[in-house]
Amino acid sequence: MKTLKIAIQKSGRLNEKSVELLKNCGLTFENYKSSLISTVANFPLEILFLRDDDIPEYVQDGIADLGIVGENVIGETQVDVAYIERLGFGKCSLKIAIPIQSDITTLEDLNGKAIATSYPIILKKYLIEKNINADIRTISGSVEIAPGLGLSHAICDLVSTGGTLKSNGLKPFLDVLHSEAILIGRKNEENPLIQELQQRVQSVLRAKETKYVVLNCESKHVEAIKALLPGIKSPTVVPLLENEWVAVHTVISEKDFWKKINQLKLAGAQGIVVMPIEKIIL
Ligand code: ATP
Ligand code: ZN
Repeated sequence: MKTLKIAIQKSGRLNEKSVELLKNCGLTFENYKSSLISTVANFPLEILFLRDDDIPEYVQDGIADLGIVGENVIGETQVDVAYIERLGFGKCSLKIAIPIQSDITTLEDLNGKAIATSYPIILKKYLIEKNINADIRTISGSVEIAPGLGLSHAICDLVSTGGTLKSNGLKPFLDVLHSEAILIGRKNEENPLIQELQQRVQSVLRAKETKYVVLNCESKHVEAIKALLPGIKSPTVVPLLENEWVAVHTVISEKDFWKKINQLKLAGAQGIVVMPIEKIIL
């Protein structure tokens, strides 16, 4: 069968997590920093290390079969690719930000104003949608200094914590796009190797969202504790040596983890042990 190719970022914010995801999928490869390509030893796959901006087009044009890239880059390059999986890392927002002291207070105030950005395509779409007529100034980097230099009244840039905005005297004003890393492929492609890789990615993501929990309780509390634990099917209950005591094994979603743990304690759970899960195969 033909060897698959996946394109990931060579260096930058998505590189490490992309490599980690592939390794967690059980793929063995050298993460050569200096080379552009790495061959996976235990799966018919080659990894191409590229600038993130090139990844969507490489996938669209068939140079790579798959890619891992931020949604913001996909939107800006205007390619037609399939979203195979949302990966839950590289989360950030494309925001319009304005100087802390600004006379812009409503969306309509952006009419006639200059907005500096490296994302002219996404911003243009957004402004058309909102019926705003602003002047988009495309610059390739350090967008956050544009208002200070008198280049623009506002900016549209990627923000994760907002620290960079603050240190440049700016504040977030509007959300244009929420973004995360996406596993992309070509549309209408039915390749069993891609499906196999997708299943592995899904099992890693599922495992990330859940924790394995073992707890002890008196038998009389089992029903109340079971009611709190949907588990994958239902929890495993095994007797302890001590009479009338059992151990309950289950998985808990990361999302409501602390809430669940507190509820379990109130319901009579003791000695709660929590462990990470590597993979969940359904
Ligand atoms: P390259 O050299 O590959 O072109 P880059 O400088 O364009 O890299 P990075 O800064 O490494 O890109 O960001 C890669 C992606 O990480 C972004 O496109 C975005 O999807 C995501 N990201 C997450 N948080 C942030 C953030 N705070 N600022 C910028 N990008 C972020
Ligand atoms: Zn880039």
